[in-house]
Amino acid sequence: AKVWKQTQAFDGVPKLNDFILEEETLPGLQENEILVEALYLSLDPYFRLLASPDQSLPGEQVARVLQSKSPEYPVGSLVCAHLGWRSHTVVNVTTPRVFGTTVDLINEVPGLSPSLWLGTVGMPGVTAYLSFFEHCDPKPGEVLVVTAASGAVGSIVGQLAKHKGLTVIGLAGSNEKCDYIRDLGFDHAINYKTEDISKALDLVAPSGVDIYFDNVGGEIADIAYGKLRDYGRVLICGLISDYNKSPKELEKVTNWNKVILFKQLTIKGFMIFHSKNLAEFPRVRQEIVTLIQKGQLQTKEHVTDGFDKMPAAFIELFTGSNFGKAVVKA
Ligand code: NDP
Repeated sequence: AKVWKQTQAFDGVPKLNDFILEEETLPGLQENEILVEALYLSLDPYFRLLASPDQSLPGEQVARVLQSKSPEYPVGSLVCAHLGWRSHTVVNVTTPRVFGTTVDLINEVPGLSPSLWLGTVGMPGVTAYLSFFEHCDPKPGEVLVVTAASGAVGSIVGQLAKHKGLTVIGLAGSNEKCDYIRDLGFDHAINYKTEDISKALDLVAPSGVDIYFDNVGGEIADIAYGKLRDYGRVLICGLISDYNKSPKELEKVTNWNKVILFKQLTIKGFMIFHSKNLAEFPRVRQEIVTLIQKGQLQTKEHVTDGFDKMPAAFIELFTGSNFGKAVVKA
C-alpha cells in the first residue's frame, strides 16, 4: 500500500515537505476484514485541525473491495469510510472507526459518480442540509449570507435556501466563482477579495441580514455580524480563515456579546461528526439524491488526478484554488 504521512507539525499553511509518501506491506485478512483499494479520496479543511505527525492522516475515501472475509461486503462492492490517505487498506468492518463512523456500503445510483459520496451526497452535503434546515430556522423572504459560497458546503446551502424562498447572497474569492453561484440561482455574489464587503452587503441587503451561515470566520464574519437584523441567526459551520493561524494570531477576539444581547441573536455551532448528526445520514443522503435526480441541486467537484498529488490538492483548499468539492482520483 502507498500511504501519505505527515513529517512535521504544520506551521501556517501546510507545505509539500510536511508530507512523505511511504510503502507499507499489508497483513493477510482475518475474519470480518476486507481489503479495499481507494478510488477517490476526500480532501477537507478540517484535516488541518486534526492532522498531527503522531497519527495517520485523516479523511474519507470511496474504495472498491478487492478481498473479503465478510459476507455483507462482497468483492467488487463499493464502500465509503474514514480510511485516511492510503491507496490500499485492510479494515475490520465491525470495529467503529474515527468519530464512531462505520464502513458504509455504497448503493450506487445510476448517473451519479460514487465520488459524490465524499461531497454533495456525503459529509459536506449532509452538513449543509442538516445545519441549514434544522438549525437556521429559515423562513421564505428572509436574507441569507453564506461564505465560501462556491464550495462543497456553501454551494449546497445557497441552493437549498433558494428553494426555500430566501434571498441568497454568496461571498467567494474570484469572479469565476461568483459567476458560478449566480448561475446556481444565488441572488447576489460578492467577490470578497476585490470588493468592499461592508458596502457591497449594504447595497444588496439594505434592510440587513437574517441568517449568516459562516464557513470562514475572521474579518469577514466580523463584518457579517454587523449586518444582522434583530432576531438574526448565525450558524457557525467552519472558520477556515483561522485554521492556519498561530495561537498568538488568534488572540485578537472581537467582543460580540453586546451585539448578541441587543439584537437578541441566536448563534449555533454545528459539528457533522456528532453521533446525533451521523444518525441522520441515511435519511438526508436519500433526500439529497432525490433533489439531484429532480435537477433541483447542482453539484461541482474539483478532481485532481493521482494519489501522489494528495498534499498539493489539500494545500489548494487554503489558497482557494479548488473550485468545487475537492477529491483526488487515485
Ligand atoms: P470548500 O469546498 O468551500 O473549500 C474551501 C474554500 O474556502 C476555498 O476554496 C476558498 O474559497 C475558501 N477559503 C480558503 N481560505 C479562506 C480564507 N482565509 N478566507 C475566506 N475563505 C477562504 O470547503 P468545504 O465546503 O468543505 O468547507 C467549508 C467550511 O465548512 C470549512 O470551514 C470547513 O471546515 C467547514 N465544514 C464544517 C463542518 C461541520 O461539521 N461543522 C463539516 C464540513 C465542513 P474562496 O476562493 O471563495 O476563498
